[in-house]
Amino acid sequence: MTSPSSTVVTRFAPSPTGYLHIGGARTALFNWLYAKRHAGRFLIRVEDTDRERSTDEAVKAIFDGLSWLELFADDEPVFQFSRADRHREVVDQLLETGHAYRDFTSAEETGRLRDEAKAEKRTFESPWRDREPTVDDLASPHVVRFRRPKATTVTVADEVQGDVNWSTDDLDDLVLLRSDSAPTYNLAVVVDDHDMGVTHVIRGDDHLNNAARQSLIYDALGWMRPTFAHIPLIHGPDGAKLSKRHGAQAVHEYAEMGYLPEAMRNYLARLGWAHGDDELFSDAQAIEWFDLAGIGKAPARLDFDKLAHVNSHWLRLADDERLAKLTLDAHLQKGHALAEADEARLQRAMPFVKDRAKTILDLADQTAFVLKSRPLTLDDKAKALLSGETLDRLARLRERLSLFQSWDVFALEAELKAFAESEGVGFGKIGPPMRAALTAGSTSPDIARTLSALGRDESLGRLDDALQQTK
Ligand code: GLU
Repeated sequence: MTSPSSTVVTRFAPSPTGYLHIGGARTALFNWLYAKRHAGRFLIRVEDTDRERSTDEAVKAIFDGLSWLELFADDEPVFQFSRADRHREVVDQLLETGHAYRDFTSAEETGRLRDEAKAEKRTFESPWRDREPTVDDLASPHVVRFRRPKATTVTVADEVQGDVNWSTDDLDDLVLLRSDSAPTYNLAVVVDDHDMGVTHVIRGDDHLNNAARQSLIYDALGWMRPTFAHIPLIHGPDGAKLSKRHGAQAVHEYAEMGYLPEAMRNYLARLGWAHGDDELFSDAQAIEWFDLAGIGKAPARLDFDKLAHVNSHWLRLADDERLAKLTLDAHLQKGHALAEADEARLQRAMPFVKDRAKTILDLADQTAFVLKSRPLTLDDKAKALLSGETLDRLARLRERLSLFQSWDVFALEAELKAFAESEGVGFGKIGPPMRAALTAGSTSPDIARTLSALGRDESLGRLDDALQQTK
C-alpha cells in the first residue's frame, strides 16, 4: 500500500457525447476515492475535442450526474478543446526533437498503403518517416505523426493488469495533428494529464492500448509517466458486456428509479473493488480503505438485488425530512395531485415505511394512502367491512379517539388495545374496518402508525366521512 501523500492528483475525463454512464460514474468514483484517500486532488477534464460528437447537453448531463452523485472536483473543470494551442505547441516540440514528422501523403494514398501493409501482414509506415520535406512540400497539406522508436518494447506497469508489453513494431506512427491542425486524442490526453499534474490515471481497460501509445509520447517528451490503473468494464448480470438490454445505464435513470446517491456510491465502489467482505460502508470508510490493489481483474457484474439491498440500508439511515421531499418529488413525477399538508404527512409516515422500502418509488407506493383527498371513495369491499355492528363500533372508537389528545404512535397503540378490550373483541374486528375507512384499500402500515402518519384532524375526518357514507 502506498503511503498517504498530498501530491496525488487524479482525474475523470469524460467525452461529452451522451449521458453519464454508470461505468463512467464508477471511474469518477474510483478516482475521487483514490484522491481523497491520499489527501490529494480530484479533477475533471471534459474531452470535447471531437466537435461533431460533443454537445453542450451532454456536458450538462455529465455534470448533473456527477452532482447527483456528489462527486465534486477540487478545481474548475478543464475543457480539452480550449487547450488546442498548447497541444500544437507540444507537437512543435516533438518536431524539433525529431520525435515527430510531417507526413504529406494524401488520405487516399495513406489508405492504399495501409491496405497494402495489411495484406502483407506488416505495420503501416508512411514514406515520410525518413524523408526530409522541401520548402515547397511544407506549403502543402499534411498531418504530423509521432515517430515511435522501433524494435523495442513498451511496458505499461499497470496497477491492475500488471506489466503489459507491446512491441513497438506492432504499433504504427500515430497521427498527432490532423491536416486541419486539430490535435488528436492520445496527444491531448498526454499533454493535459501532464499539465494538470495528474499522477494517477484510473480508467476503463478499453484504454489499455492507448496507455502504450501515450507512454511513448511521455517518454519522447521526457515527462514522467503517471501511474496507470485500467479497470475492467462493468458487465450485465449475465456476464455479457453491459448494453441497453440489461436495463438502465445512465446515472440519471438510477436517480429516477429511486436509488439514493450514497447508496449508488457504496454500490459502485463494490463493483470491481473489494475490501474483504464488506458490502455496506460509508464514504468515510471507503476513503479510508480504497486502494488500487483491491480492484479485481475480472469484470464486475451488475447485480440489481445487491443494489436494492444496499439502497434499503441507506434508506433506513436517511433523514425523514429528506426522504419525505424525495418521496414528494416521486409522487409529483407520477402526476399525483398534492396538498399543502402532504409533505408533513409524508414525513410522519417515513419512520413507519422506510424499513420495508428498497427505493424511493417503494416509499411513494407505501405512502400513497396519506395523499388521498377527502372524502375517500369507498369501494364495495370497503363498504361491506363497514356495516352493522362494525359500523357502530367504529363510531364509538371515533368518539373515543376524538377525546384522545396524544397522537403519538405508542399512545395510539395502547389506546386501540384498550378499546378492543373494552369492547370485548380481538383486534381483528377493529383493524380491517379502520383501515378501510382510513385508506380506502391502499397499502398502509398498522393502524396506530396509519393514524399517526395521517395526523389527528385528517384521521378523525376520514372516519367521519366513512361513517357518513355508510350510514
Ligand atoms: N475521454 C475518454 C473516455 O471518455 C477517457 C480518456 C481517459 O480517461 O484517458 O472514454
